[in-house]
Amino acid sequence: MNCSQCGKPILNRHYGGLCQGCYKYFKNGGKIHDIPAAGTIAYDDQGKIICHICGKSFVRLGSHIKESHGLTIAEYKERFGLCHGTRTTEKSYSNIMSRHAKNNGMDQQLLEAGKATRIKKGDTHMRKGKEVRLQERIDKRKRKDK
Ligand SMILES: [Zn+2]
Ligand SMILES: [Zn+2]
Repeated sequence: MNCSQCGKPILNRHYGGLCQGCYKYFKNGGKIHDIPAAGTIAYDDQGKIICHICGKSFVRLGSHIKESHGLTIAEYKERFGLCHGTRTTEKSYSNIMSRHAKNNGMDQQLLEAGKATRIKKGDTHMRKGKEVRLQERIDKRKRKDK
């Protein structure tokens, strides 16, 4: 049988129609979130990063997409238009809180999020003849709009 939540075949024991991964996820209070738009990174209210494939949120996306979706993080980023340097781990919770306290504004948060994903100086191989990923184009648009 297949997992009723993620559709993965269940090989060993099943947990009320769920695979072990889904069972654990929901048991710990996990939710299914809206799928983030391609080229953007979204976090849940706990600062966990949301998967572009299934909408679940994780502290670290790398191991999840490998186990559940059979993709490497590089393939995942390519598929969803994310830059190489984009962090795919949770936002530090304390960071979010202090940011809230200082700015209490969404614009600043978006700006900060953009900073982390910008291509580093010297990392120019993406520009030379290579497609600039969607995420970077979105970041640029945001900066222009400001
Ligand atoms: Zn499952
Ligand atoms: Zn997923």
